[in-house]
Order: sequence, then C-alpha cells, then structure tokens
Amino acid sequence: MEWLKELNQQQLEAVLSTEGPLLVLAGAGSGKTRVITYRIAYILNMGLAKPSNILAITFTNKAADEMKERIKRLVSVESFSEMWVSTFHSACARILRMEAHNIGFSNNFIIFDMQDRHQLLKECFERLNIDEDRLELRYVSRQISNFKNMLISPSDIYKEGKTDPRVAEIYKLYNKLLKEYNAFDFDDLLYYTIMLFRTNPDILEKYQQKFRYILVDEYQDTNYAQFYLIYLLAQKHRNICVVGDDDQSIYSFRGANVRNILEFEKVFNDAKVIKLEKNYRSTKTILSAANEVIKNNIHRKPKRLWTENSEGEKIYLYPAFDEVDEANFVSMSIKNLIQSGIKPSEIGVLYRTNAQSLNFENALSAHAIPYKVVGSLRFFERKEVKDILAYLRLIVNPHDNLSLFRVINVPKRGIGPSTVEKIKVLSDEYGISAYSLLKERGVLEFDRRTYFKLNEFVSLLEDIRTEAETKSVVEVIKLVLDKTKYMETLLSSKNEEDFQRAKNLEQLISAAAMFEEENEDKSLQNFLNSIALSFEEDDAQKEDKVMLMTVHAAKGLEFDVVFLTGLEEGLFPLLRAEDTIEMEEELEEERRLCYVAITRAKKFLVLTYANNRRVFGRFSSRQRSCFVDEIPAKYIQQIYTPLRNVNSFDTQLNKSQQNSTKTTLAVGDIIQHNKFGIGKILSLSEDLNEVLVDFEKYGQKRLLLSYANLKKI
Ligand code: ATP
Ligand code: MG
Repeated sequence: MEWLKELNQQQLEAVLSTEGPLLVLAGAGSGKTRVITYRIAYILNMGLAKPSNILAITFTNKAADEMKERIKRLVSVESFSEMWVSTFHSACARILRMEAHNIGFSNNFIIFDMQDRHQLLKECFERLNIDEDRLELRYVSRQISNFKNMLISPSDIYKEGKTDPRVAEIYKLYNKLLKEYNAFDFDDLLYYTIMLFRTNPDILEKYQQKFRYILVDEYQDTNYAQFYLIYLLAQKHRNICVVGDDDQSIYSFRGANVRNILEFEKVFNDAKVIKLEKNYRSTKTILSAANEVIKNNIHRKPKRLWTENSEGEKIYLYPAFDEVDEANFVSMSIKNLIQSGIKPSEIGVLYRTNAQSLNFENALSAHAIPYKVVGSLRFFERKEVKDILAYLRLIVNPHDNLSLFRVINVPKRGIGPSTVEKIKVLSDEYGISAYSLLKERGVLEFDRRTYFKLNEFVSLLEDIRTEAETKSVVEVIKLVLDKTKYMETLLSSKNEEDFQRAKNLEQLISAAAMFEEENEDKSLQNFLNSIALSFEEDDAQKEDKVMLMTVHAAKGLEFDVVFLTGLEEGLFPLLRAEDTIEMEEELEEERRLCYVAITRAKKFLVLTYANNRRVFGRFSSRQRSCFVDEIPAKYIQQIYTPLRNVNSFDTQLNKSQQNSTKTTLAVGDIIQHNKFGIGKILSLSEDLNEVLVDFEKYGQKRLLLSYANLKKI
C-alpha cells in the first residue's frame, strides 16, 4: 500500500482507525474527502470487509462517481459494484426498491421530482378547496418537507396542534395521493426508509449486519432524518466515520442541522476526533482571504487552516459597470486563460443565484467558449422531455395518474378538459386509478365518441407496454416517439421552437444510450430512477468545459481558477429575513457560503461585482458586498480589463501596483483629472494601460492610467 504515503500523519491516523466511531472535523481542502476514499481502499485492501459491506455517503452523485473512480485506482477487488457509494437519496431508493412492499408500497414505485411534487400539491389545494392566494404553495411545500425531514407524520401534527390545520390537511392528503400513485418524493425516500426500519426490526438488523463500515462526507449538512438513518444503521458494528466542516454548513434552509456534527461526540460517546489543519488546495493568499472572511462569524468553533503552498497571485477584483459588462469580462478573461493553456474544466464560474447564469451563458456562447451549467438540470424539466418521461413512467406503472393526465391529450387526440375532469372525479369516487377506470368502466361511463378516443389511448399505452418488455431503454424511447407520433408532430411543425424540441428529444436518446453504457442495471425503471435522482447535477465531470454553477452546487469541488461573481449587497449576501436575529443567522450562513466559494480556488481567484444591475427589469445602482471588504486590501488587486493570460499575471500585477490607483475605476465612473477636470470613463483598454475619458470641458481624451492619476468622485 504505497499510497498510504500520500497522507499526512493525521490523515493516516484517520484512515487506520477503522474500528469504532470517528469524527474528522476539519476545514476546507484539508483532505477530508481524501480520508474517506483512502479509508475505503484500506479496508478493502486489508480484507476487513467485502465491498458489499461498505456504505459511503456523498453529497452529490457526481462526488459519488468521483470517489468510486479514485478507490478503483487505489485497489483492485472483485465485486466492486456491490459497494454502496452514493447520496442518501440513492441509497434509500435502493433499499426501498427491495423492501417497499413491507410498508404498503410496491417495489416498482416512482420518484417524484420538484415539479411533480408541486403539481400534486396544487391538486391537493384544489381538492380541499384551499385558495392558493391564502396559503402559498411554496410555503406549504417547504413545511411538508421540513416535517418529513424531522420525521413528523401527519397524525403527529394533529396531536401537536401547533401547525395551521390547513397545512396538516394538505400534508395528509398529499401523502395519501402519493401512496395511491405508488410514488415517493425526495424526502419520502429517507422518511419511509426509516419508517421501514422502525416497524421491521428484522429488516433493520439485516442492513445493520450488512453495513460493517459506514462513511459520510459533508456531514455538517445532514438533516435530522439523515442523522437518524445513519444512527440506526451504525448500531451494530459502530464503525461509523463522518467528516465535515462546521464552517461549510450551507443547507440549513433545507433542514440541515450543523448540530449533527457538533454533537457527534455526545451521540457516540467513545468517538475518536481527528482534526486536520493543513490545506493542500489553495495558495497562501487565497487561504488567508478565506480565513479572514470566516473569522467574522461569531457562532463558530475557532480554527485556522495553514498551507505550505506558495503565496500565489493576488486575488483579482473587477468592478463591472453592469451585469453585461461583468459577463463579458468573465468570458474574455476565460478566453485568454484557455488560450494560455488552462483547461476549460479547471475554470469555475460561481454565482449566488441560478438566475445569474443566463448572462454568462450568453457571453460565453458569443465567445464560442464551451461551458456547462451544473446544478440547474433544466434539461429533464423541459416540456417535451417530461412528456416522454411521462410515457415511460406509464410503461413502468400505468396507475401513475399524474403522468397519465400529463399525456392523455399530448399529442392532441381530442380528449378535452371536461372529459379529463370527469375521469378524475369518477376514479376518485370508485377509488381506482384513472387507468383502471378507463379500462374497466370506460365503456359504461362515457358516450360513444369519447369512449372511442379514450379507448384508443388505452390501447396505445398497452401496445407500447407490451412491446417495451423486450426492448432496451433507447429502443423504448424511440418506440414511444414513434407510436405516439410525438416526433412526427414536432417535425411537421414549421415552428422553430418545435424543431428545437425535436433536438432535445434526440438528446434524451443520447442520454439513455449513455445510461446504458454506464450502468449495470439497464432497466427502464433504473433509468427513470437515475433521472429523478440527478435532480441537482449532471454528467459534467467528463467534459472539458467551463463549469457554471451556484456556490451551493460547488461544494466539495475544486478548480484552478474560480470566478466568484455578483459580489453585491443584496445578492451575495442574499438576505431575506426581517428581524435582526434571523438576519444575523442568515448573514453567517451567507458568509459560510462565501467561505465555501473562496476555498474552491486552487491557484487564481477572481472576484467581480457590478456597479449597476437590472433587477426585475429595473436598472439600479449597487453596492459591493461586505464580504469583499472583509478581505484585507493587501491580498487584493483591482483590475479594469480582462485577464490576459497566466504568464502575464505578474506583469499586470506590477503595472497596477505602479499606478496605485486604489479607487475603483470602471466604465461609467465619473473621475477628476488635475488638468482636464471632471469627466466620465468611456472605456478601458485591454492591457490596462489606457483609459478613454469624456471630459466636460475638453471632450474625449485617451490617457495612460499610470500617469493620469485619476480620482474617482
Ligand atoms: P472540502 O472541505 O472542500 O470538501 P476536503 O477537506 O474534502 O475539502 P479534499 O478535497 O479531500 O479536501 O482535498 C483537497 C485537495 O488536496 C485535493 O486535491 C486532494 O487531492 C489534495 N490533498 C489532500 N490531502 C493531501 C496530501 N496528504 N498530500 C497531497 N495532496 C493532498
Ligand atoms: Mg470534501
């Protein structure tokens, strides 16, 4: 095991302490994820367990894939695929796939994504006659999610009597319908796995026995249900290793509870605790900046990371005129960086909110730079894709009403809203699925013409189902596109949008082909499963493209160059709270988020903000983020033009130091010149040297920045 040398003393200790509970509490880039990876390799190599005895939890599917790859490089064992390296959700889905029948679901359940969930909630609102204006759907959705994460059932709420009774009603109905559809939402995956274990001690024991070693990455962002699941599973062997960083807890809005990590030692009172303090990822400058920012949080365990890495470049700060200028700056810089040899996939563009991606997407496309938006996997949410997925879901489970109603008239087959309404009412009355109703009672309940159309639809579904039995996923998709005439309809349209839709469906086929290549379980069921579970990510890691993502999505990742954008008050930090206590808590979480963002960078960190931004279509001036000012000025270098290339970084640095203009200069700024008086900056040259100013009295003049001594006013 030569590779054990690739660990420092503390890391090694963590890897070798395989027995008993272990907590690794350490800052960003200190090798926590590496500890988990090497620990698994060590366990396998020493023969302490078989792959099937290991359960490793990562925060994203992407992280899981990466971890598997790394372990494979360290050890070669048989039956590697029997090892569980996955997210909580995937692990639970896998358990329920085998056991759901024990709690009244069937094992071929479907998983509802966010959209399905909102759709179903809407239906609950309607059925209960609750006005959406009165009670916000998103609020209820969040509440229900919180209940499930806290393992609170609908009947528990009634007992407590604290919650709005309407929310309780909705929660109850929502769960009832899910069960009827044989579906789980994301929170259910955990909720019902725990319920399964609680009500079936023998099943719990089976899994306790199986998972001899349990490892959890990013433990600071686990919620109560996740904690409890791990707690249950670890009771037998107690070989539980969790790693995390309280400074990187950034999901409290989704019910994550940082106390899980802080109280680990209480729950497992013989736990060993190892701290790692050496950072291997970032330059001294970047790490110092991160340390300086996070130390402003009052509620934290003090710790300070250090590194042997070089000082590195200063952190660049670009004050943009507006969000378009910001996006152009980022794109032009990236173009230069790529030209100077940096791999696109080593560049990350981070932002606080998803909506910010659009400007970057536009600017990057304009410069013909390959990019990938990670995290907002809009692809599978597009209408045409969801339509086809609905057909696929009906193949697996014809009683999935939500999918059935989605496509009953898509493409158009003359089944109108009133017929659909009638189907809903009747199936409810008889307590059967819409599909059963149509099949068993269609002829009785509908007039001849309607029945004819409905019957045609049912036969279509049955045809597809029968033929699909012997086909691969790719073939099944093609079959659906063909039989439903979906593709034909799109292609015969003259609408450009429809053409685009057809392209997206081709893309879906490619995605399925990729799925078949990569997965052992190539069933349609598993395909749908993997889509539902990839809700926050995609296959980005394999492509050499610039990565665009929110800071949340960047957790655990690292890049040579990071552009951290939109550093403005009101955007990052993004504060919503009204009262001061909540506001302080939120500000601390935003600061942790900023800490996560900064520590993603290995070599270069570039910060940007816009002096003006269109918000809800209104052009308004902005103030730069307090986080920028928390980084001591000595680490920061303001720049006014796009980065040239890596080699010229030094020269840029020198030039800018010479001109020692400490103020923020950007296009649009009003400045004062000793001789020419007051003027407005029209443009800045690429090499940082020249500035074009429109002076009130003297008109346009080109000046050398290093001599002009301009003062911003
Ligand atoms: P985060 O908190 O961001 O998740 P982490 O603590 O999980 O970070 P890793 O991602 O495991 O940190 O490690 C950060 C980087 O440092 C990786 O590139 C990793 O390969 C490298 N690294 C970790 N430990 C060592 C070591 N002992 N020697 C050399 N490189 C190391
Ligand atoms: Mg990590």
